[in-house]
Amino acid sequence: MRSHGIAEEELFSFLTSVKERDRVYRKVLSSMCTLPHPVAVRAMNLFIESNLGDPGLFEGTASLEALLVERLGSLMHLPGACGYATSGGTESNLQALRMARRNAGVRSPNVIVPESAHFSFEKACEILSLEMRVAPSSDGYRMDADATADLMDKNTVAVVGVAGTTEYGALDPIAALADIALDRETAFHVDAAFGGLVLPFLPDAPVFDFQLEGVTSISVDPHKMGMSTIPVGCLLTRDPSMLCSLSVDTPYLTVKQEFTLAGTRSGGAVVGALAVIEHLGRDGFTAVVAECMANHHRLTDGMAALGYPVIGDPEVNVASFDCPDTPEGWQVSRTRHGHMRIVCMPHITTTIIEEFLKDMGDMHV
Ligand SMILES: *Cc1c(COP(=O)(O)O)cnc(C)c1O
Repeated sequence: MRSHGIAEEELFSFLTSVKERDRVYRKVLSSMCTLPHPVAVRAMNLFIESNLGDPGLFEGTASLEALLVERLGSLMHLPGACGYATSGGTESNLQALRMARRNAGVRSPNVIVPESAHFSFEKACEILSLEMRVAPSSDGYRMDADATADLMDKNTVAVVGVAGTTEYGALDPIAALADIALDRETAFHVDAAFGGLVLPFLPDAPVFDFQLEGVTSISVDPHKMGMSTIPVGCLLTRDPSMLCSLSVDTPYLTVKQEFTLAGTRSGGAVVGALAVIEHLGRDGFTAVVAECMANHHRLTDGMAALGYPVIGDPEVNVASFDCPDTPEGWQVSRTRHGHMRIVCMPHITTTIIEEFLKDMGDMHV
């Protein structure tokens, strides 16, 4: 540390110059995060000092977190769902598996995850000492339900399905998996970190939420398609006792117990997430998602015309292509199979897609 601090102006000119090394979102086609909605920024600033780790001190913020859970629970067709705002999909997924392991109470627990699962499950299984059994995909990068059933045994504490995979935008056969889990009395966690704020606003999306009796928990991330400020995810559970089973005593706080993973938590980001939901409502989200999907289809049509048909059959605004080269200046990502991957987030406008397709076309002349 410096022995004497530097003046504010000098400090901010340093910070501003370093920030120039960060990419601006405009040509970033690889991210599941986006520019936060202005109401999220304003709400976060208003609650900037709020710590949800000690909710008795911030009762107002805590009631807004409860409202966020209620809004997202209703969106997932369970208005009384239990839950809390996490730091994102990774924490939600970890906590979901932790609940499942705790509730099952078996000696050598295992979980079944799809081949297409997000890498957060690898971290979660390592931390929780869970054996991770990977179910293969069948058609179009979707988890094979029969293979999942075959991998299950008496030590299986949870099955995981993804609604909107990170790499191919696909949905696992959630309804079939929910039936299997229900039949075997096993927890079934739906990872809708990305798809959870896309699918409810599409005209004919498959059912993936608490309408399916077998679904025991869901993760959904406001800091992705919820256009919130980072960090905020949400874990929802059907049964309140599942979440409470994670509680530990917190002797010196204003509350006696907590079930969250983090202690100190940003109240600002949580209110930011709620602010976008309240401000846009169902109409607003439907419009944003329709725009993202229109751009996604323009992209997949344009890429197909250039000889790169989309891989699989994405149901959300994530598309991957067998295209080894990337036009200069664009940030795309690569899936574990090496496919070019593009997410049409709200910051990706039609103009940007047209520009990208033009650069793609020029690359091959
Ligand atoms: C993004 C994502 C995650 C991880 O979420 P973080 O907020 O980055 O921790 C988990 N699962 C899926 C399906 C995702 O798309």
